[in-house]
Amino acid sequence: TSVLDIQRLSKTYGSRSGASGDKALRDVSFRVPQGQTLGLIGPSGAGKSTLIRCINRLVEPTSGAIHLGDTDLAALGSRDLRRARRRIGMIFQEYALVERLTVMENVLSGRLGYVPFWRSFTRRFPGRDIENAYRLLDRVGLLDHADKRADALSGGQRQRVGIARALAQEPELLLVDEPTASLDPKTSRQIMRLITEIGAERNLPTIVNIHDVPLAQQFVDRIIGLRSGELVFDGSPDALTEAV
Ligand code: ADP
Ligand code: ADP
Repeated sequence: TSVLDIQRLSKTYGSRSGASGDKALRDVSFRVPQGQTLGLIGPSGAGKSTLIRCINRLVEPTSGAIHLGDTDLAALGSRDLRRARRRIGMIFQEYALVERLTVMENVLSGRLGYVPFWRSFTRRFPGRDIENAYRLLDRVGLLDHADKRADALSGGQRQRVGIARALAQEPELLLVDEPTASLDPKTSRQIMRLITEIGAERNLPTIVNIHDVPLAQQFVDRIIGLRSGELVFDGSPDALTEAV
């Protein structure tokens, strides 16, 4: 796996038109080592989503570098983006599952990178991929639910599928966007624990955009605080209590 290294990242929206635009990120630099789960916090408008979107290149950075291993994601042209995105596992607030497909099919779609339109596509996968998918489902506690449709699951179970799907992709980095915003407090804690544990087990750098500061403090290894596009805190969850 790889280290994520962000150097002097800035994003100004609307700059292409020549207007001075809104500075959403200003010279943000930090490095996420393998196996570390970093919680990204800050009030709305602080630049959290912009930062996540710069990393997966849904947004084009204005300046700076985003190295994942040897690749500068900020410098990639559109031709190389698809391949680079395959190296980034995404986990979403609303899970982004295909509701009419089974749990197993959702997980295997992560392996493919797209959702096939033909029916019962699990049969077309090599046994090795199926075995790996079962192992992932076992790890997230859903082994008995492999053949259920996603729309038959609870919110917490759906997010577990989302985690297994991201891992099926064999990512080098996990980007997690408000994973618990739709979940009750107890389920939120279970999901945060699972994400942090899995990031460590797989030695992945992991960034979690998380609104709930106490929840972040309880589970992540390190916290970065953004305010008005600037990095205003970078330290251990315990140090945050003293800083705020
Ligand atoms: P929102 O505008 O999204 O409702 P808030 O401004 O209410 O978010 O912030 C939520 C919590 O996060 C508050 O407890 C606040 O103290 C804390 N917080 C916000 N930004 C930072 C930061 N940059 N560093 C540390 N703590 C922060
Ligand atoms: P957060 O995720 O912390 O709430 P955002 O990254 O969404 O913060 O927003 C940071 C700043 O960038 C805000 O001032 C917001 O209004 C602005 N912004 C976000 N997205 C866009 C966009 N697509 N076009 C113009 N301005 C944007």
